[in-house]
Amino acid sequence: MPSNPITVITGSSRGIGRAAAELLAARGHRVVISSRDQDSCESVAEGIREAGGEAIAVACHVGQDDQLEALISDTVERFGRLDNLVLNAASNPVYGPSDNVDRKAFDVIMHNNVFGSMRLGHLARPHMAEAGGGAVVLVSSIAGMLGNRVIGAYGLSKAAENQLVRNLALEFGGDGIRVNAVAPGLIRTDFSKALLSDERMVKHFERTTPLGRIGEPEDIARVIAFLVGEDSRWLSGQVVTADGGITVTGGF
Ligand code: NAP
Repeated sequence: MPSNPITVITGSSRGIGRAAAELLAARGHRVVISSRDQDSCESVAEGIREAGGEAIAVACHVGQDDQLEALISDTVERFGRLDNLVLNAASNPVYGPSDNVDRKAFDVIMHNNVFGSMRLGHLARPHMAEAGGGAVVLVSSIAGMLGNRVIGAYGLSKAAENQLVRNLALEFGGDGIRVNAVAPGLIRTDFSKALLSDERMVKHFERTTPLGRIGEPEDIARVIAFLVGEDSRWLSGQVVTADGGITVTGGF
């Protein structure tokens, strides 16, 4: 791995992806900021450059094949190589019991979260192999490990992502590419804003989480940095749970 690897992070205009991009840039990675909105990606990239890091912005909707192809080809065209891929963007358009999930919503969830990650991994692989190997990190969720009454279809996609990690670890290992995931518990981002805007819920989560607080994007960014870096060089095909201990209590 070079001292300034090229690392693409999907969904990095906000939340966990943005925290990961800023931490990796501070640690010397040249990062590609990506989400559906070019302007918000530009603004994150600009902030990283002002802080002395190197970043470019390439918009990409992870449900659009042509945009996935352009994300990888633009990255390689601009930087001449690709070392790491952080598959963080995800969709969750439904809240409620599983009979609320129609085929269209189900297809969006599975297509964006599972197929988009798999496709991007395949597009990145030859470039990562040419660079001598690297790391793919998926941002999964404890929702893929526990039963859930309100975000069940999203949880199905996260369980599938966990299996994708194991499959790609087998397929990509020969090219020196490690594939792992982090499975966060509840993290304070726009994604969880509705839940965490209720002060009673915040108190409940603080009480039930062994570490006694709500997770922050940087808590997960640090695990992503570990999974991308040399300290995890013998890990592949693994899902690392980072949830302040909530799953060992049996869940929220
Ligand atoms: P967030 O703060 O809402 O940020 C989501 C990011 O993804 C934004 O940059 C958003 O930008 C981008 N995005 C959304 N849909 C996209 C699409 N179709 N194509 C490309 N980019 C897209 O969410 P977050 O909480 O950081 O979530 C990041 C990851 O963590 C997700 O995989 C989520 O499942 C996982 N996770 C979150 C929590 C939690 O409690 N927050 C817990 C467990 C796992 P645009 O809207 O501009 O596209």
